[in-house]
Amino acid sequence: MSLDLEKIRGEFPVLHQEVNGKPLIYFDNAATTQKPKSVIDALSNYYQLDNSNIHRGAHTLADRATRYFEETRTAVKAFINAKEDNEIIFTKGTTESINLVAASYGKKFLNQGDEILISAMEHHANIVPWQMLCEEKGTVLKIIPIHDNGEIIWEEFEKLLSERTKILSIVHASNALGTINPVREMIKAAKKWGAIILLDGAQSTSHLPIDVQELDCDFFCFSAHKLFGPTGLGVLYGKRTILEEMPPYQGGGEMIKEVTFEKTTFNEIPFKFEAGTPNIADVIAFKKAIEYINELGKPVIKKHEDGLLEYTVGKLNEIKGFIPVGTAQEKVSVISFNINGMHPFDVGMMLDANGIAVRTGHHCTQPLMQRFGIEGTVRASFSVYNTQTEIDRMVESLTKIAKIKNR
Ligand code: PLP
Repeated sequence: MSLDLEKIRGEFPVLHQEVNGKPLIYFDNAATTQKPKSVIDALSNYYQLDNSNIHRGAHTLADRATRYFEETRTAVKAFINAKEDNEIIFTKGTTESINLVAASYGKKFLNQGDEILISAMEHHANIVPWQMLCEEKGTVLKIIPIHDNGEIIWEEFEKLLSERTKILSIVHASNALGTINPVREMIKAAKKWGAIILLDGAQSTSHLPIDVQELDCDFFCFSAHKLFGPTGLGVLYGKRTILEEMPPYQGGGEMIKEVTFEKTTFNEIPFKFEAGTPNIADVIAFKKAIEYINELGKPVIKKHEDGLLEYTVGKLNEIKGFIPVGTAQEKVSVISFNINGMHPFDVGMMLDANGIAVRTGHHCTQPLMQRFGIEGTVRASFSVYNTQTEIDRMVESLTKIAKIKNR
């Protein structure tokens, strides 16, 4: 099945505008995707018809809001094939999900000298929480090095595994390079040493089918806003047996069973980890984003994006001075590059003058940029609503930009 691009583009209101006098081309999807009308309408409908606090109300609106909220949890469970609804915890985003695991699991189960393994291509969200834990507990952060093409060095990864490895926390697909890591094999290898596995699925969940049971990861994190859902909302999946052993992350309403001034008993999962009034409207609207992806089908989305990526790489390789950063065999639709001798920010500004939105800079992966000896890159990242015609316009602009430098 191929995609009806005109219909799809019609569902995303934001795409239909001019920027700097040119039709907008939105190639910053790895930062955040645009929202279809069904998601926008769900947000507005919630506030117009259903707004109420959830879980503890004895009235119709509260019941309705609670039901819709919990329906999203069930939809997320099915979306990533978790076993049970209560393994799905709503957070602010991937960042908070990883922080929750580091703070709760890390504090309880990790000890001085234990090792946490991450890769050289991690987002700061999968570096800093572990560094903070290391500071506090005397655990040690170990880094899996990568090849020049942006793939992990398997032999080095294997050498780093030992009985000291307590956590492998790895990005499923890199936001800065596009590399899809061989997570199935990595999980198998790390499990042999008894490690707990966290996958940062911020960039993979919109492109690749996710089956947490088949992957056999212990934690899986992602952000709603990167898959057509609202900002400020994320998911932490955790295996029930592990979540039950973990202490709460924050204290407050919702997460308690009973409170006295002497002692508090905690609620069951997932509520134990959802202190305070949650992001109700966004959770409810997120179900529409999941339905949107399910209706199109991830394989169809991926095929379209792969086609765009291949087409772009072919065209950009013809530009004198084009330097790709990240040429792994398996990639999501992210292309990072530099134009010889030009600052990525300048390239981004010139593209913006032509209505083309890309991201420039270190993409929250400063150690990765240091690994490549660069300050940053220009990053174009594609989604289901992007077209070949848009790519032609970007290539045309970049050809002109590169000529300025080569003059
Ligand atoms: N991990 C990766 C790979 C990402 O790309 C991002 C966002 O760009 C994050 C983590 C953090 O996501 P959020 O800012 O939604 O918490």
